[in-house]
Amino acid sequence: MTLLRDVAGLLWPRGCAGCDRPDEVLCARCRALMSMTVERPLAGREGAASASCGVYRGPVRHAILSWKDHDDAECDGPFAVLLADLAVRCGAADGGAPLTLVPAPSSTASMRRRGRAHMRDLTSRTARELRRRGYDARCVPLLRNGAVGGKSVETTGASQRGERIRGRIGVATAATGLEGRVFLTDDIVTTGSTLRQCVAALDAAGIVVSGALTLASVPERGDADTADGAFAADTTMP
Ligand SMILES: [Zn+2]
Repeated sequence: MTLLRDVAGLLWPRGCAGCDRPDEVLCARCRALMSMTVERPLAGREGAASASCGVYRGPVRHAILSWKDHDDAECDGPFAVLLADLAVRCGAADGGAPLTLVPAPSSTASMRRRGRAHMRDLTSRTARELRRRGYDARCVPLLRNGAVGGKSVETTGASQRGERIRGRIGVATAATGLEGRVFLTDDIVTTGSTLRQCVAALDAAGIVVSGALTLASVPERGDADTADGAFAADTTMP
C-alpha cells in the first residue's frame, strides 16, 4: 500500500486543497461547498450585505487555510472563479454599473510571513475573470494596514487584538476615478470587524461601500465573537 501511495504521489503530485482527492487543485465536491451564497449584514453599513461563497468549516476551511497559510497559490485560479460566480449571483456584477473591488489589506506581518498580499492577488484575478465574462470590473487596492508589532499582538487576546488593529486600516492612495459600485473583498469573515474598519476607512475618504464578497463566513453559533454584534439572527445559511 505504501508503494501504491508513493506511485500515486509521483503520478499526481498534489491533492485537492480541501479534501486531498488526488489530481485536483480544488475538486468538484469542494467547489460545490463554495458555490453557496451565505449572507450576513455588512458591519458598519446599514442595509448592505456581506456575501460568502461558503461556510468556514470542514473542507472549505481546509482549502482556505492551505491557500492562505501554506501558500497554495494554485488555489488563486479556482477561488477567483468562485468569487466571480458569487459576484454575479448576488448582483454585485450585474452588467450595468461598473464594479470596483477593494481588497481588505494584509497586515505587514502577514505579508512578510506569506511573501504576498494574497487578497490583492485573488481580487485582481477575480476582476480579470469578471472582465472575461463581459463585466466591467476592476481591482483597486486602496486600503492598507499599518504595521502591527508582532510581539505585543501575540500576547493579547482576540478582542484586544481587534481593538488594536481597529483604526489602523486606512486609504493608501488618492481615491480618484472610482467608478460604479464599490465592493470589499476578504477571505474569511469572523466578527466582521475587519470589514467594518474597511467600510469606515473608505467612508472617511468619501467612498460608499455597497457590500462585501468573501470566500467564507465563520458559522455564528458557538463563536466567541457573537458579542461583536456583526451577526444577525437571520443570517442565511444554505
Ligand atoms: Zn476536494
